[in-house]
Order: sequence, then C-alpha cells, then structure tokens
Amino acid sequence: MKEIEIYIHIPYCVRKCRYCDFLSYANASCKEKKTYFEKLADSIRGDSNYVVRSVFFGGGTPSSVDAEYICGILEKIKKEYRIKDNAEITLEANPGTLTPGKLKAYKDAGFNRLSMGVQSLNDELLKTMGRIHTAEEARQGFKMAREAGFDNINTDLILGYPTQTKKMFGETLDEIIEIRPEHISAYSLIVEEETPLYDAIEKGDLPKPSDEDDREMYRMACEKLKAAGYEQYEISNFAKPGYESIHNTGYWTGVPYIGYGIAAASYIDGKRLSNNEDLLPMLEERVDKETAEKEFMMLGFRLTKGPDSKRFFEMFGEGYEEKFAEILTGLENKKLIDKCETGYRLSAKGIDFANEVFGEFI
Ligand code: SF4
Repeated sequence: MKEIEIYIHIPYCVRKCRYCDFLSYANASCKEKKTYFEKLADSIRGDSNYVVRSVFFGGGTPSSVDAEYICGILEKIKKEYRIKDNAEITLEANPGTLTPGKLKAYKDAGFNRLSMGVQSLNDELLKTMGRIHTAEEARQGFKMAREAGFDNINTDLILGYPTQTKKMFGETLDEIIEIRPEHISAYSLIVEEETPLYDAIEKGDLPKPSDEDDREMYRMACEKLKAAGYEQYEISNFAKPGYESIHNTGYWTGVPYIGYGIAAASYIDGKRLSNNEDLLPMLEERVDKETAEKEFMMLGFRLTKGPDSKRFFEMFGEGYEEKFAEILTGLENKKLIDKCETGYRLSAKGIDFANEVFGEFI
C-alpha cells in the first residue's frame, strides 16, 4: 500500500509575529473557531489506497486553541485513515500557550512529537520579533512537555534576524544544546513583503539583515550542533540519530501529501491542489513527469545526502544521472555538488549557493 502524509492547518495565533506571513488570524472569536473546526472535521475523508506515515498539525499556532478541538481532529483522522503503527504525529506549539493539561491531552490523543517555536532564548530579541513568549516560558514549556512524556521534541530557531548578534545566537544555541531536544531546526530569516518587519526595515527602524552575519550564524549552528552529536540531515535541520523528521523528509523525497484546512496544499496522484475558504480542494495543476522529476531533484538537494538516485529510478523509471547529465556536470564543474553513494549532493560551497543549484531544476 502506498504511503501518504497528512497536514492539518490551524489558522489561529494569539498575536501576529512581526516577520510572519503565514495564513493565521489573531483575535478570532470562539464562534469562528468552533465553526472552523466543525468544517475541518467534515472535510476529512479517508482514502483506502493509502496508509498514513505522518500527521502534522501546523499553522498558525495549533496549541493556542482548545486542546479538545485538536484532539477531536486527530480522532477523525484515525477514523478515516489507516495509520502506520510507528507514524509520526506532530503538533506545532508556541511555548506561550502550553499548559500541563493541554500537553497531557495531546499525549493521550496520540501525538508523539512536539515542534516548539522557540526562535531565540534572548528576551530582547523575542520582543523585537513580536513573539508572545519569554525565554523563561520557552524553558518551562520544554520542561512541561518532557514531564508530560514527550520524548521527541523539535525546537525551531531563527538566525539572521535584524539586531540579532552572533553572541546572542551562540548563547541560544548553547542553551538549547544543554536542554537537548531530539531535533533542532535553524532557519535563516526571510523578510517577506507585507509584514511589519519588512515595513520597519524599509523605514529604517530596523537594520537590514546582513548576509555575512547570516552565513556566520549558520556555520556556527552547523559546527556547534555537530560537536554536540546532532546530525545535519537537511540544510536547516539537525537531529539526534534516529530522530530525523519523517514528515519533512517526506516532502523532500516526493512522498504524496494531503492537506486539510484553509489554504492547505495537497500533492497526490500527480495533482497539486489548494484548499479554498470553504476548505474544499481546488485543482491548481496537473504535474507532468518532467516537472515532477525536476521537483524531486530540487527538493532532494536540500537533504545532506542529496536526491536519492535509487528512489528516482523507482518513481520515474530512469536514472537522474543520465536524465540531468548536462546540468549535473555543470554544477560539478562549479564545485557546487559532489558525487556520493546515493548520487549527488551539495558540496560545502554548494550549501552557501544552494539557490543556484535549485534554480537549475525550476
Ligand atoms: S506564532 Fe507562528 S504562525 Fe503565529 S504569527 Fe508567529 S510565526 Fe506566524
């Protein structure tokens, strides 16, 4: 039976962070939320052709709404789909919204992984970002999650934020390493238009992020996390052995996924769909073989082991080394990729110029 991943979008937050352009609403009423969850539950219809390898509740801030809503949706998924025994079931959480009661409810419902938006352990920077939590709340949130029995926790960190110094980032990293989550995502900030952060930079209220600082912080993360026993398995993702995210790895290796909730995307049976305001899937495009092959390469190069040539062959019936020989030779000559056991992967130089590599497959 074919494997699939499920994504559930919860579009609510306590307050919008300054840098955020995700689809999420602050200050939604109780009635609006209730209606949304009713519609969301109704929209979930199983497909007996697939077995579910991961479920990811993201947003927005899933932990900001009543745990009852979240657990009810997971129950509906379990009723509708066949779920693998060892499926990864993740909830995204903002440390400022966690309580022991909520965490217990998530655990009892079957969530086995928590992804915490820590971003930084520097209070000044958290304020600048517009986060609702303090560093201490992040520490306490993590402790509560452990006490509730979560033994697979991710912490998200941001690097390259305006006013964030290398010292600040280094201190956050050191403390996170001491706390020892199983997984750490360290994302470079992308300043999106139509965010308060973009406006503040345009007006000169905040400095422009520096590429040089961003790269130095990134290298610091790679070095410190490696020394602490975390394996870098993707450009921005690091895990203790055996704790690589199943869900995210699926995106990078061409596993089909179905999204429920407003604006959630699906990629299944060669079709790309996006949900409308009524949470109904609308066809965006039929993905032809050529496009699917290129996408496989582009996403695969995000992984430190590169796109898997054996999987490419299984999916498309040809080898990527032959199919993309010209592009790959060009990238190899520029020293952006290296040959490896599973095909090709980004070189150390290629990690800094990853967009140039991805661009070859668009
Ligand atoms: S908590 Fe996450 S989704 Fe919500 S506003 Fe902040 S960054 Fe955006």
